[in-house]
Order: sequence, then structure tokens, then C-alpha cells
Amino acid sequence: MNEALATVLGRIWADPTIVEDFHAICDCGGRFSGTASEAKARDLLADRLAAIAPVRRETVSYRGWSRGPAEVVLPEGATLEAQALVRSPATEEGGLSARLVDCGRGTPEDIARAGEAVCGAIVLVRHEFMIGRDHVHRRKKYDAARAAGAAGFLIANHVPGTGPVTGSSGDGSSGHIPCAGISHEAAARISALDGARVTLHVRGTFRDETATNLFATIAGRGDGLIVLSAHYDGHDLAESAIDNASGVACVLAAARAVAEIVPTLAHGLEVALFTVEEWALWGSAEHLAAMPEAERRRRRLNVNLDSVAGDDALTALTSGVPGLAGFLHAALAPAGLGLGIAPRYMGNSDHANYLRAGIPAFRLCAGFERPATPLSLLLTRADTRDKVHPHQLKTAASVTAAILLAACADRALPPALAAEEAARITAG
Ligand SMILES: [Zn+2]
Repeated sequence: MNEALATVLGRIWADPTIVEDFHAICDCGGRFSGTASEAKARDLLADRLAAIAPVRRETVSYRGWSRGPAEVVLPEGATLEAQALVRSPATEEGGLSARLVDCGRGTPEDIARAGEAVCGAIVLVRHEFMIGRDHVHRRKKYDAARAAGAAGFLIANHVPGTGPVTGSSGDGSSGHIPCAGISHEAAARISALDGARVTLHVRGTFRDETATNLFATIAGRGDGLIVLSAHYDGHDLAESAIDNASGVACVLAAARAVAEIVPTLAHGLEVALFTVEEWALWGSAEHLAAMPEAERRRRRLNVNLDSVAGDDALTALTSGVPGLAGFLHAALAPAGLGLGIAPRYMGNSDHANYLRAGIPAFRLCAGFERPATPLSLLLTRADTRDKVHPHQLKTAASVTAAILLAACADRALPPALAAEEAARITAG
């Protein structure tokens, strides 16, 4: 038996801290960037990280935005609850009154099929299960509607009984349109009004803002680093428990478990807790954009944890990075563990920015292709801690720790990506 692995896995399973951390992160609230809830989480996590290794703080500047109320008013005067999408432009005084055009699922093809009717209209589309091969991202739908001349954009939650859905849209600059999420039930009601005039009210305020990425490094014997990351920001609808208190708690637990062993291994470990991820991956994008070439070359692999509990099935989204699937299988085999491999590129979390920088990277997530699980509740008020079981956190942390041991030991790591290869992967 591999003694280091036995020690590390024993630490994770015999220690309740991962569950306490998970609850403490949820207790901060939804951690929407720019709010007191995010700041509370930042301070909590800086404390937790400091117990593992010295903490480095990195300031991220971004175009901040605070969410005001939103609603949809129907022709007969009834109002429906709505949730402004992140950085939606505000509507004019009196709201945006326009024809409603129901584009169904709202893929770019659906919007093209609706033709000229979209021009000047408020377009209604559906949110869909995000952790699957066929997922069409909200921003693709939004961009297609905007390009077709839509005046407003509504996206409906696909899960009944869980209120409006949220998410990011554009950056609020010129050419962007007011946009909001609504509930499944609200969509059923207004879809019957296809062609009628509805009024969308969205409020929100822009301001320049800063946020803080947190890092802690445990040196290995050599210069190389394995980056273990998770985003700690979320949305203010609930407590962003699966997405991504689960990932952050598992990052802390895995890092704690391997901390004593890493200094004996070839590569060190860099723990990265990013924020402003829910704003089109801004925090990690800024981090990597500012990174000197020599620092970038030190980073051999990014293990990114995003929504790793809420279901027992774990999958690595490998983006088809050459050699990565083989490395993962080999890393987990000594413990008799395994995980699903999804090779299609999905640029929906911070690993995408590492890939763009030519650093092999993958996202670990739960519930891939399992829409009947609580992973369907991301970005809604139903993403709460009761959906997450302690054994799921410990399983994800164990898988992560086993991967870290193999990666830090430099066992069959995938090679760095050439610039053209990185561009090809992230274009897909
Ligand atoms: Zn996430």
C-alpha cells in the first residue's frame, strides 16, 4: 500500500473540518462579488488558508454592479418576479415595453428561426442543465438575441418550484440589453402571451470595484507548481452551496491533507481561491493575464474544483488535453478509485483560463449528464446546503488529494500546451 496515500485519505475521512468549513462558507451567504457576504467569505477563507501556508492576496479590479429589483409586468397589470442577470443595463424610467417573442430553448438556431420578429422584442429563452455535453450556455443565447436586434432578454428556470434563475450576461457596455431570469411558472404564464406587449423593469448600479483572489503556496523540492483552485464567489439568491462552497471546502481539505507531504515531492502546491468567477471568469483571467512568462511555465497542472457535491458521481472535464485522462486514471488507480472523463471542452469555470495560458487543466464536478440530481439547481435559490452530503465532500476531497499526490510527484503529468493547441482546445 502507498503510505502517503493512506495517510492523506485517512486525514480526510477522520476529520470533520471539511463539513464545518462547508457550513461556514454557506453561512457567509451567496457571496455575490462586491457584497459584504463576499467580503465575509474572503476573510474566513484567508484564515483557513493561513493555517495551511502563508496567504498571498491579489487585488482584482473589475466593473462592479449592484443588483436592484426586477419584474415583468403583463398586459393586464399582473407582475411576475424576475432577477436581473449580472451587469444587466437598467431599463428606462417606466420600463422596457415590447412584444414578447418566445424562442423556446433559445439556441442561436432557434433565434435565427424566429427571424425578424426578434428585432425590437423581448426574447424569452430557457435555461438548461449546465453540466452536460449538450448544454448551450446562457451567454450564447443572449448574444444571439442581442445580435438579432432584441430589445430585452428573459431566461426561464427549467426546474419548477425553484424561483427565478440567475447568471451573467454582458459587461453592461454599450450595445447590451436589459436581461433577467424568471421562474419556470412565470415562463409558462407569459409564453401564452407570445406576441403581446410586456414591460420589463430592471434596476442595477455600476461602479468600479476591487476584489481579492487568495493564494497559499507549499514549496516542493523543485520549481514546479500544481495549482489547486476553486472560486469562492457566488450569487445572492441563496448560499451558493453546491456552486461553489463544495469546491472551496474540498480544496481546503485536500490541501490540508497533503500539506506535510508536498515538501518531499518534486513539485509544490499552489492553492488559488478565485473570486469574480461568476462574472465570466474575471478573477482568474486577471490573475493569469498579469502572470510573467517564467511564472506561467512553473505551473504544470491546474486542478479546478467547481460544484463537486450534490451527487455521488464525479467527472473530470478534461477538454481533450493530451495525456490528461491517462494521468488521472493512473493517479487514482492505487486507491482503486476512478472518475468519469468528459473530453469535450466546456469553458465554464476557471480551468478555461489556465488552458488559454497553455497550462494543462481540468474541472472536477459532480452530476455530469445527471439532470435529475441537485446539480440542476445551480444559479437558483435552491442551491442550498441540504443538497450536499458530507460523504460527497469527502469523496471529492479524496479524489483531489490522490490526484495532487501523483501530480506533485510528477508521475506522468501531461505536457504543457503549445499556443496553437491551447487556442484550438479553448475555441471548441
Ligand atoms: Zn461555479
